[in-house]
Amino acid sequence: MMKITSGIFAILLFSHIGVANAVTLNRVEAQMVKQVTDDEPKARALLKKVVNINSGSMNFEGVKKVGDIFAHELKQLGFSTKWIDGKAFNRSGHLFAERLGKANSQKKPPKILMIGHLDTVFSKDSAVQKYIEIDDTYVKGPGIIDMKGGDVIIVYALKALKDAGILDQFSIQVVMTGDEEKRGRPLDIAAKVLIDSAKWADIALGFENGDGDPKTAVVSRRGYTGWQLAVTGKPAHSSQIFREDMGYGAIYETARILNSFRTQLSNEPNLTFNPGLIVGGTQAELDTGSAKAKGYGKQNVIAQTTKVSGDLRALSPQQQEKAKKAMRKIVANHLPHTSATITFEPGYPPMEPSDGNNKLLKIYDDASRDLGFGPVKAVDPRRAGAADISFSAKHVDMAIDGLGLMGHSSHTDDETADIRTLASQTKRAVLLMYRLLNR
Ligand SMILES: [Zn+2]
Repeated sequence: MMKITSGIFAILLFSHIGVANAVTLNRVEAQMVKQVTDDEPKARALLKKVVNINSGSMNFEGVKKVGDIFAHELKQLGFSTKWIDGKAFNRSGHLFAERLGKANSQKKPPKILMIGHLDTVFSKDSAVQKYIEIDDTYVKGPGIIDMKGGDVIIVYALKALKDAGILDQFSIQVVMTGDEEKRGRPLDIAAKVLIDSAKWADIALGFENGDGDPKTAVVSRRGYTGWQLAVTGKPAHSSQIFREDMGYGAIYETARILNSFRTQLSNEPNLTFNPGLIVGGTQAELDTGSAKAKGYGKQNVIAQTTKVSGDLRALSPQQQEKAKKAMRKIVANHLPHTSATITFEPGYPPMEPSDGNNKLLKIYDDASRDLGFGPVKAVDPRRAGAADISFSAKHVDMAIDGLGLMGHSSHTDDETADIRTLASQTKRAVLLMYRLLNR
């Protein structure tokens, strides 16, 4: 690709970007970067509009409304759009959009999957509902970085490519799910569009907020699965505990199991497991759906039952299987007169580290440097939660996530965007995609 060296382009670029190393952009790149700058007020207006619509995962109407707005935006760019109804998995649904490229004689258009989500963790009765400008740098709002900002970046990156006449050189599918924050069940139906599109695509780009730092992007994410532990003991007067015919009760058995998990498995890199809720006694009820528990038990009675729910995160399916096996073995090693079972839920697969993903990161890193925005490194997978791209990553040659709007405190009432990154992240995405044409 031709690099710009002439003074006239350099001057032109300084005025757009204000950074010295921007001269490494070519003419088309510089034009697209300028387009993103010009479109910034419109992008912010779109962001404000969608943040001001509540779209908590269980607010089906709100999710659909945000989906309709993005469908409209994508149609303007020549995409065909479709709403995938979520009845079958008890959620609102997903937005699917497609725009096929025009193959020329030399090469086929690269197939790219761009991933966003429409829902947020903020329910209809959440205390925060609005887009609030704090100053020139910070804007607060529910779901602003996770991830309505990323969705807006998708739209305006595509617009810059279209305005430069480049968009026809790609084949693109956009999937914006309506249940990323609270995935519908059955999982295989809820995540089907992510898997199908990934099988179609060569490259997957995720516009989540990553760890919120523009110096990083995500090339690996740990998989996630939930587990439930159910333990029973022999009830009797507490004074008889430890007798050969009475045993230890459900609570001691639970303590043994959890402590063994910790002592035997907690040193393994990238593996974590967390008991998040526990209840035990004579009666114990635990509901994972509402994340609530109820218990009853007296100090002088040996505990009859214990329930625990927790999670397990691992970097590869092999690591996950190995951990499950070790946990099952610990569980099976019962104290006298107790029994226990552990069950694992189907979960999110891991996004495994790969050469393809690293190659994509390198292109992104170079693009960022050439824009004068500095280097981009991989996020420590320990710091990246499971996300939609986890379902897609293993079906494509290359995948990267964390290309969205940056900021801090996502999932809290203080969720805040560094609004300056709306344009800068869009520029990075545009250059990344453009350079994929000539990789
Ligand atoms: Zn998200």
